[in-house]
Amino acid sequence: MGVRILVVEDERTVASALRRGLQAEGYDVDIAEDGEDGLWRAQEGSYDAIILDVMLPKLNGYKVCRTLRDSGDWTPVLMLTAKDGEYDEAEGLDTGADDYLTKPFSFVVLTARLRAMLRRGSGAQDGSAFEAGDLLMDPVRHHCERAGTKIDLTAREFAILSYMIRRSGQIVTKPEILDNVWDYEFEGDPNIVEVYVRRLRKKIDEPFGTRTIHTVRGVGYRLEPEL
Ligand code: CA
Repeated sequence: MGVRILVVEDERTVASALRRGLQAEGYDVDIAEDGEDGLWRAQEGSYDAIILDVMLPKLNGYKVCRTLRDSGDWTPVLMLTAKDGEYDEAEGLDTGADDYLTKPFSFVVLTARLRAMLRRGSGAQDGSAFEAGDLLMDPVRHHCERAGTKIDLTAREFAILSYMIRRSGQIVTKPEILDNVWDYEFEGDPNIVEVYVRRLRKKIDEPFGTRTIHTVRGVGYRLEPEL
């Protein structure tokens, strides 16, 4: 069976161009024309990735993605947005999208992002979990816990923390995080990393009263749980 992609897009010209292009690349493609149908198909079918427009009739793309994530479905989602700017990006990613692309987009860029997402998705199947002190992460189950307490992370938060835990005890710089977690030439504000680190601290450090992510001033961060 081939790699199956669900495209949720109400603009027919965009949807059919995506279908033709992706089929030419060898993907099996299904189209849904509104958010409700998209959510239903995503839940019923087994797709390797979903290309999800934000502005959709009935249910917007953010809600579709959030609903999937809340139900424990971590199929990679590439969000298509007409909006611009880092905060919209942060909003989109925090609904659990793995990546985003601003319209109008180049098909070459879209397929590159899609391949990167699919690679990441399958890379998570190698069965390895990571531990640093009392922090545990299992990419296969998209599971994170600290001191035995489960912590809910968005897709992007999870990716950043996974990168840090793999290099625990070492300094990681913001550009390294951007290169490794965003998977493509990031052209926005690199301070987006700070936004995510702040959110991660709220989830994995503040409730426990001890530090896991340390700031190395002017350089980056170091993950090292204080026990
Ligand atoms: Ca649309």
